[in-house]
Amino acid sequence: MTNRLLWPVRKVAGETSRIFVTFDDGPDNRYTPEILSSLDDAGAKATFFLLGGRARAEPLLVREIADAGHSLGLHGMQHTPLWFRNRKWVRQQLLDNLLAIRAATPDTVVELFRPPYGRFSFSTIRVARSLGLRTVLWGLNSRDYRATSPDEIFTYVLSAVSPGDIVLFHDGPRGGDKTSHVLPKLLSALTANGFELASLADVL
Ligand SMILES: [Zn+2]
Repeated sequence: MTNRLLWPVRKVAGETSRIFVTFDDGPDNRYTPEILSSLDDAGAKATFFLLGGRARAEPLLVREIADAGHSLGLHGMQHTPLWFRNRKWVRQQLLDNLLAIRAATPDTVVELFRPPYGRFSFSTIRVARSLGLRTVLWGLNSRDYRATSPDEIFTYVLSAVSPGDIVLFHDGPRGGDKTSHVLPKLLSALTANGFELASLADVL
């Protein structure tokens, strides 16, 4: 059990139709509301890995994400890399991140963490674990931060996705514009292909 919890999750095993879309680097008032509305229209649940700095700036959006039934996770305060920092520094980052989210939505359970850039050391994961957080990476990267058009994201994700995938998107400044644009069409296509979109709190 301990080993399992110390190993980052990239894909959910044993799934036949569910996938797990995730959004990093928000909340952002340019893209997050549109993304929430698209998810709602599609009857989809998702997971948002929130930056503490953004959560402090946009508490109402944090609340809105939680109230819509999506999972919330930590992503650091300002997207500073964590893998070479000492335990004390990382612990403070995650505590501040947690407090920023709790200030916006006190009753929401937050048990997930995704390190900025997906880079970590085992010390990073142990600190997260000591705070009751499960470290989550991704199995499929939408590459929205370097896509040249929304259609590129659409084509790539549809061709690559399989059941159990944890799919990385962004609702922040890098990628949020294209992801928010393509999401209605992409969610329709995924649903038409038999995929069900669930939040990670349902399975982790
Ligand atoms: Zn990020």
